[in-house]
Amino acid sequence: MIPAPFDYHRPSDMQGVLALLQEHGDEARVIAGGHSLIPMMKLRMADVPHLIDLQAIDSLKGISISGTRVTLGAMVTQHDIISHAGLAQIAPILRETSLQIADPQVRYMGTVGGNVANGDPGNDMPGLMQCLDATLHLIGPDGTRDVPAREYYEAAYVTARADDEVLTAISFDAVGGGYAYEKQKRKIGDYATAAAAVTIQASGGKVAQASIAMTNLSDTPVWSEAAGAALIGSDCGADAVKAAVAAMLEDIEPTEDNRGPVAFKRHVAGVILTRAITRAWSRA
Ligand SMILES: Cc1cc2nc3c(=O)[nH]c(=O)nc-3n(C[C@H](O)[C@H](O)[C@H](O)COP(=O)(O)OP(=O)(O)OC[C@H]3O[C@@H](n4cnc5c(N)ncnc54)[C@H](O)[C@@H]3O)c2cc1C
Repeated sequence: MIPAPFDYHRPSDMQGVLALLQEHGDEARVIAGGHSLIPMMKLRMADVPHLIDLQAIDSLKGISISGTRVTLGAMVTQHDIISHAGLAQIAPILRETSLQIADPQVRYMGTVGGNVANGDPGNDMPGLMQCLDATLHLIGPDGTRDVPAREYYEAAYVTARADDEVLTAISFDAVGGGYAYEKQKRKIGDYATAAAAVTIQASGGKVAQASIAMTNLSDTPVWSEAAGAALIGSDCGADAVKAAVAAMLEDIEPTEDNRGPVAFKRHVAGVILTRAITRAWSRA
């Protein structure tokens, strides 16, 4: 389908972006890679009379690593993440996750900022950012503010970001240890039926810290404090993994759709999380 007519704006700095958002209010939206927004416009599920392209804003680009602190500019693409050697070394779960997103064509255009800002429960990066306890950096007419990824998602496509705010960057501490991003999808290029991001730090053969989040099993990503806590102090054996899965199943609320009925999704969630924990522990 063809989208409704729109005006295209391409400001060269953030002040220009914010001024356009103020001027056009509800009628304006920023566009990053366009691989979520343009399909929505073509399907007439989004009507955006003023599209504000972020491609010319250099301050939104680039990956920086300072000690253990990693900062991803909002316009960093999934391909940038996959091909950044320093990032693959300090936080390999980002590469593992990005490789599970869509296909190479989408990954060349799709940005981490668009993936995280959007609030689509099917997107893979939001759960990952919750697992990593990342901070989202926003700018708006009243200045800048930071929101923890674990507090950003309120409902499907409803987030803590105001309409006149722009996500500028995402940062997190790379904690090291074991990691895994496991995803069940119907075919290559599909969104998750269930996906799990897991990090585990080991000490003396026991789990010292664990963080677990899942994707597309509720209308927001689900970081389960109880699931991580179920592993801490254990040797990550079968009983501890079962307890972590049981805790996560308490926290998710899947709904039936073309990926299957609720019982199937809960079953897949358990299988995927078990695999993710097992792989993360083997790397811890
Ligand atoms: C065939 C196909 C398969 C896909 N499969 C997957 C998948 O398996 N997993 C997955 O995670 N994603 C998948 N995607 C989505 C893809 O990763 C998107 O590109 C991504 O989610 C959005 O990034 P974008 O840069 O394209 O954002 P855009 O489409 O440009 O924007 C998406 C939304 O975010 C807003 N936005 C963008 N950037 C900012 C910002 N900096 N600040 C504030 N708001 C912003 C826009 O206004 C818009 O509402 C798929 C897409 C396609 C077309």
